[in-house]
Amino acid sequence: MSTGETTLSGAVRSDASPVDRGRLARDLVREVRGDVRFDDAARGAYANDASLYRQVPIGVVAPRDADAVAAALAVCRRWSALVLGRGSGTGLAGQSVNTGVVFDFSRHMHGIVDLDPDAGTARVQPGLINDHLRAAAAEHDLIFAVDPATHDRCMIGNNSCGTHSVYGGKTVDNVLELTVLAYDGTRMILGATDDEQYQQVLAGGGRPAEIFARLRSLRDRYADPVRERYPDIPCRVSGYNLDSLLPERGFDLTRALVGGESSCVLVLEAVMRSLLRPRHRARLVVGYPEVITAAEHVTDLAGGDRLLALEAFDSTVVANLHRRGEHPPGLDDVPEGVAWLLAEYGGDTVEEAGERARAASGCVESPAEPAVFTDLDRQSEVWEVRRSAIEYARVPGVSSGLAG
Ligand SMILES: Cc1cc2nc3c(=O)[nH]c(=O)nc-3n(C[C@H](O)[C@H](O)[C@H](O)COP(=O)(O)OP(=O)(O)OC[C@H]3O[C@@H](n4cnc5c(N)ncnc54)[C@H](O)[C@@H]3O)c2cc1C
Repeated sequence: MSTGETTLSGAVRSDASPVDRGRLARDLVREVRGDVRFDDAARGAYANDASLYRQVPIGVVAPRDADAVAAALAVCRRWSALVLGRGSGTGLAGQSVNTGVVFDFSRHMHGIVDLDPDAGTARVQPGLINDHLRAAAAEHDLIFAVDPATHDRCMIGNNSCGTHSVYGGKTVDNVLELTVLAYDGTRMILGATDDEQYQQVLAGGGRPAEIFARLRSLRDRYADPVRERYPDIPCRVSGYNLDSLLPERGFDLTRALVGGESSCVLVLEAVMRSLLRPRHRARLVVGYPEVITAAEHVTDLAGGDRLLALEAFDSTVVANLHRRGEHPPGLDDVPEGVAWLLAEYGGDTVEEAGERARAASGCVESPAEPAVFTDLDRQSEVWEVRRSAIEYARVPGVSSGLAG
């Protein structure tokens, strides 16, 4: 048995010796509370995500709880097997498939541990479905602002953003604390770390001290190029968030790891932030004769007062819906055009929200009369046009017309 080579984070590099699948599976079954599937059907099912890539895993384990994750990881370490966390497998770039052991968090570790409405925070397990958190938050007039188009199945696996990110930011902006497990078995609770806390970690010694010190040294070495070259764009969701380690960002290991996509640690638990939900909302839909004109007008809407959400789609989406024989009711409410912008505005009253949407419509030039909806059902229907297009976007050989 080879031990492989551990990196700073403890993630293991695959070494040359092939893993003995039978014995690995046997140890997992014996030592881990959870489901262990090494049969061909399971391996086939987990070989795909929402991308074009295909990687057949060694096998799949679905641990019951955090201790079971640690037990499973210990077995994988013993056999030098690569590991990969997986939520709902909607990754678009192949990040949810690998030839190692897949840890499926969606099966058993999908609960809300606790929700504190006063603090506006929720402690959640890593396989939680986005909509479940949103529904729980809504009961307290709170909103979890990250809502990618896959919100009815996706979880917090990566640094996604969605329709309401203009209001509440990306996943990284809404994760306050992470409990993580490194490949070598080190379990840590991470957040922003001031100097006093940093010194405490160093004084505690062991692997956490080593990890913190090496990250601090990495940060000090590359601080200037990170400051200079990290693109300052709202939707930067790929790559490590090394900028979060900068002193002016509080040496925040949590933020640095969001979007690490299993390459550094497995996330066992997260504390998420919720925001006050605007009491009332109104939606504006503007149709354009060309996609490029719609794109040019994004900035006109982006700075709007109490803007909560901004989305776009083009006629390809509508054509694909028709190809699939779908005609969501909201389609009849969409103004004429071949590309559309949808914007949502908040207000303390329905009238106020509607007024904001109407005021915004005055800032854009469009041949067709923009539509403003204050009725909640009609708002949902028109939003559903864009959302449901996700379901029907994949027509073989045809572009989806969606931005993500
Ligand atoms: C049709 C469609 C529409 C989409 N729309 C949007 C959109 O509007 N906005 C947007 O931002 N994204 C969008 N996405 C992509 C988006 O990133 C994913 O849908 C979603 O965020 C991934 O969540 P998931 O639970 O499926 O994670 P997975 O795909 O299961 O995993 C994603 C990554 O996280 C890692 N991971 C999972 N669990 C853990 C864990 N416990 N610890 C450490 N790492 C872990 C995985 O290894 C993987 O690298 C879309 C995808 C699809 C298919």
